[in-house]
Amino acid sequence: MKEKNDITIGVLALQGDFEAHLKTVQRLGLPAKEVRTLRDLEQVDALILPGGESTTIGKLLARTGLDAAIRDRGHAGMPIYGTCAGMILLAHTIEGRPEQPTLDLMDIAVARNAFGRQIESFEADIPFDFGAEIVPVRAVFIRAPYVTQVGPNVQVLSKFQDKVVAVKQGNLLATAFHPELTDNLRIHALLAEMARNYKADTG
Ligand code: GLN
Repeated sequence: MKEKNDITIGVLALQGDFEAHLKTVQRLGLPAKEVRTLRDLEQVDALILPGGESTTIGKLLARTGLDAAIRDRGHAGMPIYGTCAGMILLAHTIEGRPEQPTLDLMDIAVARNAFGRQIESFEADIPFDFGAEIVPVRAVFIRAPYVTQVGPNVQVLSKFQDKVVAVKQGNLLATAFHPELTDNLRIHALLAEMARNYKADTG
C-alpha cells in the first residue's frame, strides 16, 4: 500500500529562486525534485514554477522541450503552482508583450513589474482564501506582476490594494508573491493537497 504522503513535488530548476521552493516542500515533509529535463517531469505529481526572469525561463523551457510537456501535463490535470515569474508563464496574455511566449495554461492576463519599478520589493499581510477559511498570509513581492483580467473559470484567492495577486483555475494555482521566502507553508500545503487528490484520481 502506498502512503498517503507518497507524492513528489517538482520544482522547475532552470533559473530563478527554485532552491527556496525545494526547501519549503521539504519542510512540509515531502520529497522535492528539481525538474530540468523531460524525464524529471515524468517523475513528479505536481510542479512549481518559481520566480525569476520570465523571459529567460521561457527561453529555457522552449530549448528543453519542457514547454510543451508541462502544457500537456497541465491539460491532463497535474497541479501546477506558479509564483511571480511562474505566474507570468502560466498566463494566457502578458499586457503589452504579445511577443513573449507563455505556457498559456490559465485564463488570465498579467502585467509584468506592475507595482512600479521604483518599489523593487515590499511585504504585506494579505487575506488569502483557502476555501474553508480566509487567512492572512505574509506576502513578499519582488518586481511582482499582478493579474489584470480573469476568465469565468478563474477564482480570485487574494487581492492587495484592489489588485488580484492570487488565482486558482482547477489544477492551476498562481501567486504574484513569494510564500517560499516566508515561514508560511499554507500555500505549498494547498498544492500538496491538490497533488494528493490528483494522484488518488489518476491512480
Ligand atoms: N519581474 C520578473 C519577470 O517579469 C518576475 C520577478 C520575480 O519572479 N520575482 O519575469
